[in-house]
Amino acid sequence: MQTRFTPEQLQDRGIKRANDILRSCVHCGFCTATCPTYQLLGDELDSPRGRIYLIKDMLESGRAADEKTVKHIDRCLSCLSCMSTCPSGVHYMHLVDLAREHIEKTYKRPFFDRALRAVLAQILPYPMRFRAAILGAWAAKPFRFALPAKLRAMVDFAPRKLPGPSPADRPQTFAAQRPKIRRVALLSGCAQTALNTDINEATIRILTRHGVEVVIAKGMGCCGAVTHHMGKTAASHKSAAANIKAWTAADVDAVVINTSGCGTTVKDYGHMFAGTDLADDAAAIAAKACDVSEILGLIDLKGQAEMTVAYHAACSLQHGQQIKALPKDLLRKAGFTVLEPTDPHLCCGSAGTYNLMQPELAGQLGARKVATLESLTPDVIAAGNIGCMMQIGAGTALPVVHTVELLDWATGGPKPRALQA
Ligand code: SF4
Ligand code: SF4
Repeated sequence: MQTRFTPEQLQDRGIKRANDILRSCVHCGFCTATCPTYQLLGDELDSPRGRIYLIKDMLESGRAADEKTVKHIDRCLSCLSCMSTCPSGVHYMHLVDLAREHIEKTYKRPFFDRALRAVLAQILPYPMRFRAAILGAWAAKPFRFALPAKLRAMVDFAPRKLPGPSPADRPQTFAAQRPKIRRVALLSGCAQTALNTDINEATIRILTRHGVEVVIAKGMGCCGAVTHHMGKTAASHKSAAANIKAWTAADVDAVVINTSGCGTTVKDYGHMFAGTDLADDAAAIAAKACDVSEILGLIDLKGQAEMTVAYHAACSLQHGQQIKALPKDLLRKAGFTVLEPTDPHLCCGSAGTYNLMQPELAGQLGARKVATLESLTPDVIAAGNIGCMMQIGAGTALPVVHTVELLDWATGGPKPRALQA
C-alpha cells in the first residue's frame, strides 16, 4: 500500500512504525474472511482492510479522529484473527494500538462514554476496586431495567459469586516440591485475582509439584493491557514499568502468564518500551514471558483423566501468541478427549473490555460460540483466558474451567471446583 507521510511526520517513532506496517499491506482482502465483525456486519469498514484504510487516512492527514473512524475502530475486537490470516505479515496489532492512542489524544467522546472508559480504567486493573464494583453491580441489579445499555451489560456481566482474596496472590515464593529445575515469576493478574482464585492456585500447585519454584513478585500488578487497549498509553506504561522492575529484581528464568490476554501484552513489552530507558529490561522480560502451557510443555506431564473437553482457543493465545496445538496436546497427554468447535478461529466476544463497551456485538459472538461448543456435548469447556471463561460461562450451564485446572487435577491436584457440583 502506498503511503504519503511527510519526512517530518516520519520523525515520530509511532508514525514510522505505522508507515512500515501500512506499506506491508497489499490490500488483497484475505483477512476479511476471518474477521468476526465483518462476518457479523458485512461492512468493509468493519473489516481489517477497511480499518487499515481508515487508520491510514487518519494518521496521514494528522487530523483529529472523526466519529466514523472511531466507530469502526471501536468495533474491532483486537482478536488478531486477521494477523493469523494475512499472507503479508501485516502487524495489525501495532497499527490498531497506534490508532487507539491517536483517538484517545484527539477525539472527544460523548460524556457518558468518556466517563465509562475513565471508570473502567480506574477499576479493572485494581482487584480490590474491582471487587467493590462487583458488589455495587449486585446492589444495582434490581434497577437494571432503568440503566443505559452499557451499564446494564456491566450489571448483567457481574458474576453471581465472588471468591475471597487468595493468600496465594500475596508476594511470596512457593518452593519447588522436588529438585528445582526452574525459578519463575507468575503474573497473578488483576481482574483474574478478583474473579477466580482457583486458576493461580492450580498453576502454583502444578508447577511446584514438577520442580518449578514460583515467585509472586512484590510490586507486580496489572500488565497494562486494559488501559493499553483504550489508547491510554501513559497509564498502561506505568503498570508495565512496575512489572518490568518487579520481575527484573526477582531474577527469574521465566515469567509465567495464565491469562493469555495479558500474555500477549507482556510479550510486547520490548516494543512498548523501545527507545526508552527501560528498553533493555523490557526486552529481557518480554523474552522470558511464556504462557503457562509453554512451560508445562517443557515438563513431562502424565495423567489418566477420563473426560471429554471442548477446548475454546482464546484469540490472544491462538492469534496473539500463535499457541495453537500445545494446550490441546497437553490435555490429550493428561488423558482427556479433546474436541473443538467448528469455528475455532472465531472470537467469543470477550476481548478485554469489549463485552462491556460493545455489548450487542459481543452478545452475538458469545451466543454463537456457546452454541458451537455445546453442540459437542462435552463434560466440560476449557479455555486459557479468564475473559473467555466469563463470557462463555455466562451463556451455558456446562462447567467452564481453565486448561491448567484440568491439567493440575489430572496430575495429582484437586478436582476443579466447577466440576465438584
Ligand atoms: S490480508 Fe493482509 S495484506 Fe491482505 S488486505 Fe488484509 S492486512 Fe492487507
Ligand atoms: S482484530 Fe479481529 S475484529 Fe479487528 S480487524 Fe482483525 S479480525 Fe477483525
